[in-house]
Amino acid sequence: MNPCPTHIENSVLNATARFPTDADSHHHYFQLQCNCGERAFTLFVSNCRSVRAECSDCARPLLVYDLALYPAACKPKGAELYVAMEVPEAPSPVFVAYEYGELDEDQEFNADDITWCQVFVEHSAGDILKVFDDETA
Ligand SMILES: [Zn+2]
Repeated sequence: MNPCPTHIENSVLNATARFPTDADSHHHYFQLQCNCGERAFTLFVSNCRSVRAECSDCARPLLVYDLALYPAACKPKGAELYVAMEVPEAPSPVFVAYEYGELDEDQEFNADDITWCQVFVEHSAGDILKVFDDETA
C-alpha cells in the first residue's frame, strides 16, 4: 500500500524508487503528474502553509498540501494568500512525501490523516532538493 491524501490521489505516480533509503511503511513518496500528462510544475506556498502546484502545460492547479483537509491538523485562520515558492528552477519536476503516524489498535487507517509533508524539486542536473517541510500538528 502506498497511500496519499485523497485530494492528490489522481495526480501522483509512485516515486518510492527515487527515495530508496527514506521510503518505508510510514513515509510515502510520489511524483506529481497532471491529468494532461505533464510533469513540470511551478510551486506556490501560502501564508497558511498550503502548497499548490500549477501545471506548466495546461495551467491546471493541483493542491499538494492544505491543513484544512487533514483530521489532526489545524489550519491558521485568516485570508489565504499564495506566492511563488523560491526554487532554483521553475517549472520543474515535483516530488512529495507524506508521513502517517502509528495507528492505535482501535483506529482505522485514513489516507487523509497525514502527520508530515515534504516537497522536493528536481534540478535539470538530476539532483533533488527539498523546498518545503511541514508537520501537520
Ligand atoms: Zn496539465
